[in-house]
Amino acid sequence: MSTLRLTRGLASAYKGAVRSHISRSHFHSSAPANMKILAVLYDGHEAARQEPRLLGTTENKLGIEQWLTSQGHDLIVTSDKEGPQSDFQKHIVDAEVLITTPFHPGYLTRDLIEKSKNLKVCVTAGVGSDHIDLNAAAEKGIQVLEVTGSNVVSVAEHVVMSILLLVRNFTPAHEMIERGDWQVSQIARNAFDLEGKVVGTLGAGRIGYRVLQRLVPFNTKELLYYDYAPLPEDAAKAVGARRVEDLKDFVSQCDVVTVNCPLHEGTRGLVNAELLKSFKKGAWLVNTARGAICDKDAVAAAIKSGQLNGYAGDVWNVQPAPKDHPWRTMKNPLGGGNGMVPHYSGTTLDAQARYANGVREILENYFTNKPQNPANVIIGKSGYETRAYGQRNK
Ligand code: NAD
Repeated sequence: MSTLRLTRGLASAYKGAVRSHISRSHFHSSAPANMKILAVLYDGHEAARQEPRLLGTTENKLGIEQWLTSQGHDLIVTSDKEGPQSDFQKHIVDAEVLITTPFHPGYLTRDLIEKSKNLKVCVTAGVGSDHIDLNAAAEKGIQVLEVTGSNVVSVAEHVVMSILLLVRNFTPAHEMIERGDWQVSQIARNAFDLEGKVVGTLGAGRIGYRVLQRLVPFNTKELLYYDYAPLPEDAAKAVGARRVEDLKDFVSQCDVVTVNCPLHEGTRGLVNAELLKSFKKGAWLVNTARGAICDKDAVAAAIKSGQLNGYAGDVWNVQPAPKDHPWRTMKNPLGGGNGMVPHYSGTTLDAQARYANGVREILENYFTNKPQNPANVIIGKSGYETRAYGQRNK
């Protein structure tokens, strides 16, 4: 029964999406409208109409439309998120629940939080809630939850892929083939093995640790990590990782640095021109955490000069990234070193199923006053519940 309803819901969602960016659903039956729920998701266009497992899209609405509307809730779904006239800014003023996704972030600034008179809970469909002003939310008693763990394997796999494609000089090799050329030396002059290199993760939480685990069989020279929270001794031992407590010291020892910490006051612009000077000349940098952790212009300059041999990742300081963003086209002096893609590492179809389910569970708990899974709570009723978004006294 519920499957049938869901299917019907998705079918009508497809039609709605053809008509407009925004869709509004209100079930005018027995149950009175309870809550206004606003969801800012990305448009899936034709792909979402063809592939219903693209749940995180405005068309497929995380698969929760029918469930919510059948309970009398008012669900607004939009991708229109920028500027005062956007659907996001128009509807946030009286929404009780906000659902957002890091893949198309609705930026909930302090200013908007001030205007959001009814807002009680923000749910991130995915992991990483930096697009919400967390300090402002904490001050206002607005809860922020994310679906912790939902896409950490997806990202860790992408990190390993990105490390390999940089170290092995994959992108220019493939571009050469597409152009119809064949010049092995041109690629091989900047291609290496990962074996024997030193790889370090900046942040060794769920993703960082999974990256370390996946790197063990590559026989690296050493695996390092930098994190104010040390790994449990047995966990560090299991992957043979050594902690380095000073950041400059850490980057200066790495051939490859992978960034896996959240974006917060302590990490915004952390990898800047000054820190890049401490990297080994010709090191590779992979950032799938958040674009703004790395300084856009400093990274582009380091690639151009060859201080960095390559940079790869899927996260950008502004999303969608403008057409002229330097990270789209930057190249090292040998014409390679760019592994940038749109933000998708954590939104594989497998991940979408997990975070769509997770959002539903969080909402269910909220509607029925059940306690939330503590791992999902970033900001609880009385402030920060996590230690991952910076060191602070609660
Ligand atoms: P996590 O909370 O399990 O781990 C984060 C780790 O970072 C913690 O160990 C924390 O102590 C550490 N950390 C925080 N500030 C630090 C600092 N200043 N220096 C060093 N370490 C610091 O989180 P996770 O699940 O591993 O996710 C990490 C981040 O990855 C998310 O916050 C999100 O921004 C990003 N992410 C990206 C995608 C994607 O699709 N690209 C998907 C999921 C998560």
